[in-house]
Amino acid sequence: MQRGSSERELAARWEEEAVASDKAPAEQVLLDAGAAGEPERKTAEERCKDPARAQPRAAEEGDTRVAPRPPPTLRPKTKPAPARGLCPHGNPRSKGSSCKRCSGRRADQSCTLRPVTVDSSKARTSLDALKISIRQLKWKEFPFGRRSPCDIYWHGVSFHDNDILSGQVNKFPGMTEMVRKITLSRAVRIMQNLFPEEYNFYPCSWILPDEFQLFVAQGRMVKDGDPSWKPTFIVKPDGGCQGDGIYLIKDPSDIRLAGILQSRPAVVQEYICKPLLIDKLKFDIRLYVLLKSLDPLEIYIAKDGLSRFCTEPYQEPNPKNLHHVFMHLTNYSLNIHSSNFVHSDSTSTGSKRTFSSILCRLSSKGVDIKKVWSDIISLVIKTVIALTPELKVFYQSDIPVGRPGPTCFQILGFDILLMKNLKPMLLEVNANPSMRIEHEQELSPGVFENVPSLVDEEVKVAVIRDTLRLMDPLKKKRENQSQQPKKPVATNEEPPNSELASPSEGSVDPEAHLPSICLKQVFPKYAKQFNYLRLVDRLANLFIRFLGVKGTMKLGPTGFRTFIRNCKLSSSSLSMASVDILYIDITRRWNSVTLDQRDSGMCLQAFIEACFYLAQRKFKMLPLHEQVASLIDLCEHHLSVLDERRLMCGRSGMSGGRAPYSGPPQEATPSAPLAEGNPTPCANSAHKLPHSRHTLS
Ligand code: ADP
Repeated sequence: MQRGSSERELAARWEEEAVASDKAPAEQVLLDAGAAGEPERKTAEERCKDPARAQPRAAEEGDTRVAPRPPPTLRPKTKPAPARGLCPHGNPRSKGSSCKRCSGRRADQSCTLRPVTVDSSKARTSLDALKISIRQLKWKEFPFGRRSPCDIYWHGVSFHDNDILSGQVNKFPGMTEMVRKITLSRAVRIMQNLFPEEYNFYPCSWILPDEFQLFVAQGRMVKDGDPSWKPTFIVKPDGGCQGDGIYLIKDPSDIRLAGILQSRPAVVQEYICKPLLIDKLKFDIRLYVLLKSLDPLEIYIAKDGLSRFCTEPYQEPNPKNLHHVFMHLTNYSLNIHSSNFVHSDSTSTGSKRTFSSILCRLSSKGVDIKKVWSDIISLVIKTVIALTPELKVFYQSDIPVGRPGPTCFQILGFDILLMKNLKPMLLEVNANPSMRIEHEQELSPGVFENVPSLVDEEVKVAVIRDTLRLMDPLKKKRENQSQQPKKPVATNEEPPNSELASPSEGSVDPEAHLPSICLKQVFPKYAKQFNYLRLVDRLANLFIRFLGVKGTMKLGPTGFRTFIRNCKLSSSSLSMASVDILYIDITRRWNSVTLDQRDSGMCLQAFIEACFYLAQRKFKMLPLHEQVASLIDLCEHHLSVLDERRLMCGRSGMSGGRAPYSGPPQEATPSAPLAEGNPTPCANSAHKLPHSRHTLS
């Protein structure tokens, strides 16, 4: 796939799908094509009443399919009861033991028939939506936790809410840090340097206080070139949420007045002055994205989201209205305090609506909804691609390979603004999007009550329930079982575990009563169009390979030297002494700007900067992304040659009566460096020396 044509191809794919799904029922077509808002779409209430909704709908391409109903099974009408004291197979029963066939069958049943268990003790504000989802799935909730492990742990805040060694948890380690305003801006900026056109969906941003001078200088430069340019900037404190501490400025010097440079790190961003308006109001989109797996990368997008409206008619920013939060900020938590806030009594009116209702409205005005969706999908995939490299570093640090640990998934909340020209712009990513399904209502002055919110429930329960369905650890087994011809099972015995459902329950498709999955797979489905962007991801793989010490997130000087040697990057013009200086320079600079001071050494961003520098030296004249791609290709080539040689040495070592090769090849350790061109790496790989922590001396 050629760069630059990815969006067009993606749009074309969506077109194709839309044509293909023309034959499907109307609602299916709307959702498949992303044209969720065509005029004939039923309202949420109507669909709730619709009996057809109770039936399983056709599974979609790319989605985890709803297992087909198994054919009716033939059961013997009668079965002779086993003689007293004998098991159903005719073998004698004895206390505490059972015949081989019985125990085999029990083990089999227990893994296919028992309900999935969910620990909801740390679910916090997502508890209500989670409970409804678990009930709909007929799974088993453990609201106070459980002594034995659960299949799924649902955390309200972070990966570290519980100490878990197995199962699945709905948070990735490091995600909260990764989507903070500064970290996200940094991650996107790396991608903007490589692929400026592909990443122009994120407003120009500067990190304060470090880049204040740069911000002023760049602003001045643009203004000198175009005196009519009258920008507005939005200042957002790092780690803030719900509009907390956000304000607009017209002039960079206003930042000083606010005293932010001393108090709180922040991001200052170009303000998008021309948003798309509905009923003269600015609104944004909260879209739910499931990161199902990091490696291999799997991304799903919910087909519906929420639109949050401002409560004061929009005007382009001017010095008089800059402080009108109800005009400029779409946060629900702010606008709910406006006297103009309208609680929705349907999903298509009020200050919070479903995104599908917006699309419906746009579609009725002739807007190309498929294009809007395709652009949004592209934005989501590219943003996740920007986040994954560092997430991988966090992941290997918290859950090192070979140590027990859970697998992770996470629902992310993407906040997107549609510009007047319908281009989606990323505002931010939330690691803990609100999953509350009720809102506070003031019944009489000062008297508040929590009342259910139809719009929130409609969207959020579907997202949680269908995330659970996609993560269902027993789904494969259940599907396998439903595909196998049913063996007649008849026994008077009680299942050994009271959690077990009856055998007949196990043979029925447990999802038959549920609607089709609301999460649509977009990656790896569109991997071909986007894989060329994953350069930093490949750099992160190199970085992790040379980290050496399990649990660390920073590369020591010896690790960096080994990287240079093993990848054959030093030369007569780049001596190992200059490699050391490069390491010290870049590491020192990054350690002074990053908040994380836990370990000393080179962080991933510093490593990326070093690689960009090396790539520019080695492959002059090419555009930056081609320089970096060439460097990575070179490194990967040398490392695979090295791995092969080590593997062969391992094999020959075995035949020569040495200690057997155990596990993947290890990098050369500080005490046993693999010199460039070392003809006998076998000598090193045969002895696995313990890794020592690399530190900056
Ligand atoms: P928070 O995490 O505090 O909600 P956001 O980055 O989501 O911070 O910003 C809050 C609100 O400010 C957004 O919902 C949006 O309405 C508005 N906003 C944020 N960034 C921009 C921008 N660059 N241009 C226009 N409006 C913005």
